[in-house]
Amino acid sequence: MANKYFDSHAHLASFGSPEDILGMLDRSFEKGVRGILNICSDTEELEKTARLGISGSASKIKIYNSFGLHPYSVTQAADFPVERLDGIFADKSFICVGEVGLDYYRKITSAEKQVEIFLFFLEYALSRNLVLCVHCRDAYEDLIRILGEKRNNKCGIIIHCFSGDKDIAVKLERLGCKISFCGNITYPGSGKIREAALSLDASNILAETDTPYLPPQNKRGKKNYPGNVAYICDYIADIRSEDREIFSDKIYKNTEEALGLG
Ligand SMILES: [Zn+2]
Repeated sequence: MANKYFDSHAHLASFGSPEDILGMLDRSFEKGVRGILNICSDTEELEKTARLGISGSASKIKIYNSFGLHPYSVTQAADFPVERLDGIFADKSFICVGEVGLDYYRKITSAEKQVEIFLFFLEYALSRNLVLCVHCRDAYEDLIRILGEKRNNKCGIIIHCFSGDKDIAVKLERLGCKISFCGNITYPGSGKIREAALSLDASNILAETDTPYLPPQNKRGKKNYPGNVAYICDYIADIRSEDREIFSDKIYKNTEEALGLG
């Protein structure tokens, strides 16, 4: 039996034209991809996803949607009051809030505004019993503090594109978060991220591509696509000395559980 994979984070709408996207989904299916969480992180991706009708049976892959404002897009927050969010999440293909979070790496928006909007989406996810997909870069201290204070173990949390070290990973694991690794774990300079992947219980690990960004080492310089989750997931199995097929099955089930899928 061939391995099957779940890409827990892909911006399908940002990949290219509708034809490009359909071809890319076919190629992903051939690589064993059977599930994708499609991320809409601003107005543009949300509208393009709606136009494309990306979800459900567009391909042989199960595609689910997520919406929330990326920390660099928090300036759009006034366009998304709770009533509008309720309208978006009335579409049952939308099962997750995100990506939302904190990014102090580039000073594109202020930390204060990012924290304010992150708290808004966190409260929304808690009140509607939705999973939260978190983006965090150079802000893990604030993230861990906020999650420790606010979360109350009541909503599922996925930390996407984990870029911290093993101490941070274990702290987040203790807070009940699932940790999702993307292509940067395969880069030569990513020893700390690899150590983090070794320190976690396998039940708390997810894999993702962050399509069309951050291709893994063997595809650097090319546009990323969900099929590369096979390479990333197998890479993590190898560094953990786990059987690739058993590990990819486990990661698939972890992702379904994290997203509340049956
Ligand atoms: Zn993303």
